Amino acid sequence: MSYSLRGPAAAKTGDWRDVVRKGFDSFDAQVGTTSADKSESCEAKIWYRQKRKWTHITGATGHGAGHAEMHALSQFITNICSNKVSKFRALQDEVENKSGVRVECESKPCCVYCSAILGLLGITPKDKDTKKSPDRMGSTQWGMTSSLRSFVSDVSDYPEAILAMIDGRV
Ligand SMILES: [Zn+2]
Repeated sequence: MSYSLRGPAAAKTGDWRDVVRKGFDSFDAQVGTTSADKSESCEAKIWYRQKRKWTHITGATGHGAGHAEMHALSQFITNICSNKVSKFRALQDEVENKSGVRVECESKPCCVYCSAILGLLGITPKDKDTKKSPDRMGSTQWGMTSSLRSFVSDVSDYPEAILAMIDGRV
C-alpha cells in the first residue's frame, strides 16, 4: 500500500494513539498492576498448536526486538508462519474463537504497546496470569522488526506508516 504520513500529511500523527487504544482494548487480558520490580528482563512465550499439541516459542527482552513479547512474536511470525497471514489464520482457527495463538507473560503485565499489537492480531492471553498494563513499562526501547510491522499491517489493515509511529515513543 502506498501511504505516507511524511510532510504536510503529518497532521495525522494523532492516529497512532487511536490504533494503540483500539489494540489495547481488544487484547482480552485483565489489567494488572505494575510491580515495584524494576527488572527489565522478562520472558514471553507465544503458544500455538502443532500436530494437535500445544507448543511455544520463547522471546526475551533486548534481543533486537525490544520487549520479550515482540521478540517472541517476530520469531513466531517469521519462523512458524513464514510471514504468511493465511498460515497465522489457520493456527488461530485451530482452537474455537480463533484463540489458537496465545501469549504467556507472567513475570509482569504486557506493556501498553505490546498489548496493542497482540490485540490487533487477535492473540489472546494464555490464562489469567498474563495481564496487560496501560503503562509503557521501563526504559527498554520498544519496537517491531520491519517484517513484523508489515505483518501487523496486513492483518489489521492499518497502514505501516501509522504503525511505525508507535515505535520510539517510549
Ligand atoms: Zn512491551
